[in-house]
Amino acid sequence: MKVLKFGGTSVANAKNINLVKQIVSESAKEKKLVVVVSALGGITDLLLTALNQASNKDYGYENTLSKIEKRHLDTIKSLFPITKQSTILSWVKGELNDLETLLEGAFLIGETTSRLSDKVVSYGELLSSYIISEYFKSKKLGTILKSGRELITTDANFAKANVDFKATDKTCKEFFRSNDSTVVVVPGFVASSVEGDHTTLGRGGSDYTAAIIAAAIDAEELQIWTDVSGMFTANPKIVKQAKCVSQISYEEAMELSHFGAKVLYPPTVQPVLAKEIPIRIKNTFEPQDEGTLITKKLDVNDKTVKGISHVGNTALISLEGPSMIGIPGVSKRFFETLSSKNISVVLITQASSEHSICVGIDQSEAKRAENALNQAFEYEILTKRLKPVIIEKDLAIIALVGENMKSHQGLSGKMFSTLGKNNVNIRAIAQGASERNISAVIDENDVKKALNSLHEAFFESITKQLNLYIMGVGNVGSKLMDQLNKQKSYLKNEMQLNVRVIGISNSRKMVFREGGINTKKWEEELEKGQKADLKKFLRNVQQLNYRNSIFVDNTASEEIAFSYNDYLKSSISVVTCNKIACSSAYSNYTELKQSSKKYNSPFLFETNVGAGLPILDTLRHLITSGDRVHKIQAVLSGSLNFVFNNFNSEITFEEIVKQAQEEGYTEPDPKIDLSGVDVMRKILILARESGYELNIDDIKNDSFLPQEALETNNNTDFFNSLKKHEEHFQSIYKKANEKNCKLKYVARFENGKAIVGLQEIPVGHDFYNLEGSDNIVLFFTDRYRNQPLIIKGAGAGADVTASGIFADIIRIANY
Ligand code: ADP
Ligand code: ASP
Ligand code: MG
Repeated sequence: MKVLKFGGTSVANAKNINLVKQIVSESAKEKKLVVVVSALGGITDLLLTALNQASNKDYGYENTLSKIEKRHLDTIKSLFPITKQSTILSWVKGELNDLETLLEGAFLIGETTSRLSDKVVSYGELLSSYIISEYFKSKKLGTILKSGRELITTDANFAKANVDFKATDKTCKEFFRSNDSTVVVVPGFVASSVEGDHTTLGRGGSDYTAAIIAAAIDAEELQIWTDVSGMFTANPKIVKQAKCVSQISYEEAMELSHFGAKVLYPPTVQPVLAKEIPIRIKNTFEPQDEGTLITKKLDVNDKTVKGISHVGNTALISLEGPSMIGIPGVSKRFFETLSSKNISVVLITQASSEHSICVGIDQSEAKRAENALNQAFEYEILTKRLKPVIIEKDLAIIALVGENMKSHQGLSGKMFSTLGKNNVNIRAIAQGASERNISAVIDENDVKKALNSLHEAFFESITKQLNLYIMGVGNVGSKLMDQLNKQKSYLKNEMQLNVRVIGISNSRKMVFREGGINTKKWEEELEKGQKADLKKFLRNVQQLNYRNSIFVDNTASEEIAFSYNDYLKSSISVVTCNKIACSSAYSNYTELKQSSKKYNSPFLFETNVGAGLPILDTLRHLITSGDRVHKIQAVLSGSLNFVFNNFNSEITFEEIVKQAQEEGYTEPDPKIDLSGVDVMRKILILARESGYELNIDDIKNDSFLPQEALETNNNTDFFNSLKKHEEHFQSIYKKANEKNCKLKYVARFENGKAIVGLQEIPVGHDFYNLEGSDNIVLFFTDRYRNQPLIIKGAGAGADVTASGIFADIIRIANY
């Protein structure tokens, strides 16, 4: 015989029940079957809601009851032809009337008991098993219905009753020995106590019913039919990349389910393990999928880590204090107290110094546990030998599980460093003596990120996912989007990088897509987005809490520059071409650097100096390898270079600056370039990155602009003043031209001092031949003492800036 169990989703409606019938009739060709069924999906929750409402004197229970009724009646009406419906409908209505009477009772007395709750909640399986068995009969499947209550005997521990295996085995054996029907349908989850009360086996307990029967009748196989194609490396609803595990040991399956892999109710393995009955997990909706086989045998070359699971709603409860040392029996009293209150412990840690015991329990039990323990240790707490019990809530346990983990070193190191890199704070750690699992307690909010990063580290080591949030899609940002779109498949195939853009914003609108924005159609998506809001943008990025999150700032906005610390502190990396943050007060610059270090969130701004040229990266390599910078000479303004390379007596200064602006070589406010402020910021950043403490006010700037132009407040006034002072610019040009010199805006840093200004550069000088918008930097260091290290190339333009940002993003991928 085989035992097949179908879960709530598998029997949720007529369409699904029909799929179940097809699976059952196929299997029944070979073997006699026991078919255990859950309540129609969602009904158990509705029953509990109805009872809760009724006992709180909330008339809403009537509405909930109507929903329950409608679900069942609709299912019957779709499954059976009209002529066959009346008997089934009237039986179901009769049961629902009884249920209504129970709920009315709870309403009148305004309270409920666990006995009543089990009685009410049993209706889900009673109704589903009746409807399904009648349907099978109507399809000539040789079916009978046998109540689970008659087969399974338990104690009276309502809501999670303990099975009396001796009595249950006997009843099951006797019944099935004399049964000759092809299919016996049994309601899962429900049982009865020795005294005859309705009991239940705990939420998700239909799996357990099936396992108990399978063990009692020595079934050939236990099949759990559900809504996923097996036991996955992680919950597939949280980790998209999770894969089905084809084979797993009983012990591994038990560990995974104990730590939250809901696909299998934790006690399910126990009864079948002793008899070595294989369990197969199958998908009702994809029956051809192979599923997972749970057995004793294990492949020797099996993977070390089989799966990662988590249990939410966890509280940590700790007892600490000096009196724990050397006083035997504290642990005993601690655990006895919890056990006497029927509070089960999910995880235990105790430091070897014995200063504290700390356990993980279900959060809903936290208050009871706290009261019971404070009472049990009242004397020690009063005499200050122990501190009152500490409860920490809103936590989750994540566990790595695998039979072969014990023979491998470095797994816990990898687990904790992966969590650390993603800034997931670990509150407690436990490792089973069997070394079959390593578990850690973390914040509930971090679960999704933790599961996905661990999954990436242990199962997808080859692909890494980067999640981008792009602020600003003007000149530079839109080029970056183009480049990301073009390089997507290259990055995936050649670099194993899956780069997704999750959020985009400009000054008007913002849009978020959890699965990633289509990089081809981002403009349309953004148009459909919501009103832009910087605070909301930050909040969304924090709430999504994806691993490897990168905030990319392509704007020149001061407000955005001052939000970087909020991102870094939330473990979100920052890549920016905006120079404001790094050239702001020295204290702000160092604070950002410190946050980046503390929260493991890279802060990269290569494009702050020389656009896409690898200037800062080279400088960083020099410094980390122990070199020291003495002097920097540089031409750092692509825009000023463009202006002075193209300015002559044939064209006006205003025209050439306008052209530079139109071609994307200037900041949105060209005065920032022309006044030399932009160059000041760049030399300041170079000096700071070389290890010098410098502020913008320490830099000397001899501006070539007339005072009037410097004092303008908008672009129109600025251009007008350039026009007005054309003669001044022509005379600068003429003077240089007469000496056969070229005009370059030069920045210099030496002896801790920086200066910027326009200079006449003679033929033969390193700077003389700078073309177009090129930049050049000369580093004089310990190692490059006489011949400087020179970096030269295009230092402005949206395309090269975007590619510099792109390079920073890829640098983060390699961190
Ligand atoms: P049923 O109603 O069929 O008993 P459950 O909802 O109890 O189904 O269990 C199936 C669900 O278990 C899946 O939909 C999935 O979300 C969840 N799940 C959690 N962890 C895992 C895992 N490691 N592998 C597969 N499913 C998992
Ligand atoms: N119907 C019960 C529940 O929802 C039992 C089960 O489905 O396994 O918990
Ligand atoms: Mg289940």
